[in-house]
Amino acid sequence: MTDAAASDPIVTCDACPVLCRIRPGKTGACDRYGNRDGRLVRLDPVVLTAAAGDATALVPFLAGGEWDGGVVGAPPVFVTGIGSGTTYPDYKPAPFIVASEHDGVDMVTVVTEGIFSYCGVKVKIDTDRFVGPEQAAVRCAGEQVGHVTTAEYGSQMLALGGVRHLTGGSKQEGNATCQAMLALCNKQPVELTVDGGAALTVQAGAPPVIDGVREQRMRVGCGSAAIGMFARQWLGHADEVIVVDDHITGVLTEHQAGRFLGMTPAGIRVRGRRSTPGRYFQVAEPGSGWGGTDVTDPLAIIERIDPKIARPGLRLLMVSTTGEDAAFFVLDEALEPVPHAMPAPLAAVVARIGENCEPALASVLFMAGAGGSLRAGVTENPVRLTRSVRDALTRVTSGGAPVYVWPGGGITYMVDVAAMPDDAFGYVPTPALVAPIEFTLRLDDYRALGGHMDQVRRLEDVARAVARDDRVRLASAGDNPWPLVPRR
Ligand code: SF4
Repeated sequence: MTDAAASDPIVTCDACPVLCRIRPGKTGACDRYGNRDGRLVRLDPVVLTAAAGDATALVPFLAGGEWDGGVVGAPPVFVTGIGSGTTYPDYKPAPFIVASEHDGVDMVTVVTEGIFSYCGVKVKIDTDRFVGPEQAAVRCAGEQVGHVTTAEYGSQMLALGGVRHLTGGSKQEGNATCQAMLALCNKQPVELTVDGGAALTVQAGAPPVIDGVREQRMRVGCGSAAIGMFARQWLGHADEVIVVDDHITGVLTEHQAGRFLGMTPAGIRVRGRRSTPGRYFQVAEPGSGWGGTDVTDPLAIIERIDPKIARPGLRLLMVSTTGEDAAFFVLDEALEPVPHAMPAPLAAVVARIGENCEPALASVLFMAGAGGSLRAGVTENPVRLTRSVRDALTRVTSGGAPVYVWPGGGITYMVDVAAMPDDAFGYVPTPALVAPIEFTLRLDDYRALGGHMDQVRRLEDVARAVARDDRVRLASAGDNPWPLVPRR
């Protein structure tokens, strides 16, 4: 990769289509490669993970920079793609093809960094609060970087990135998308806004911040589920309980759970569309109020109180699906709900709803498709790698973390960035994200699928080489399954 004229101190990096010409002591546009004494070098350390509990045991190897990469007698290590370099352009084998032994079985791991134009990020935000209408644009630094997608149980979902935003729009849109994904994948906080919705701060593994409010609780269930779970505990302490929820608001005495307990309708009719007995849709607009609605006064969802059924002295509890909002009323002679202090038995159940909520978190899944360069870096006949993954002969990991490979064609995978070592992702200015990927299989199977056998190196040799080059970082594999265990 050094320029043809030996006297030219500039080196040309061909690790991505940008083809940076890098002067001595300088780095390329992505800061991942540099010119060190006329040599093109990958600047970040290669990350080796150690089996759970072993990372600290490995630290003494590195103390004082004295580790020579020796792994014999040491805890098992796994070479990840982080900092490994890339296969681009497609004719190159993967930078590290590492042979090692697991329980007497010869294994091989093909290690590389993928450059992904086709990639995205799915963000799960544990909240009922309204973040924005489905399909609304999600922006970062004013540029659209994705959209609000289908909500899940107790969580709002964002789909960010993707090739259309990376390369299909303006240069600013592509750069904003790339930087937002990069930060999210490297577990950093990112500020987003939703058209017609909220301002968000999301970070993998941290509580989301919605319009400046740090979310605390993920709801125990929808309003109907909450009615079912706690009906028996309310019995005898309230004549009616309404659980306010943007999805399904539950009304105890009409609900199957109340009827099962012998309760009779209390004559309090809530707004919205009745789905099935005691279950109401659309009692209010979505918002940041009670149960993900825009309601701040719970009585606003009561359409009418039937004088033929309701009676003075009727005890009414209204509560949200997280228990964060609750109020107790007693009907007066005119059948008007009058606020009263919450009786202790009801307060205890409200507290129990809160206790049953899980901490609200934002989760970030990176999703990408392993394409041509990547697969050609593993084998001379790339489709065989796809088949091998499909046949469960080859395990795919990202930074040593397990991935989910989608059914159907190609190797389209998702990985939880929280399970990966820190700073596992990079970028190139095309723009595209750079992510580690490893393929692990039996050495025999690798030979059979046309692997680059002449490039296979022993783990000890790879570890020594990166340690000698001062290019190694150790990380714990955490709770991840050990990738070298054969799949069959
Ligand atoms: S952007 Fe980075 S990977 Fe691409 S050519 Fe420049 S230094 Fe190499």
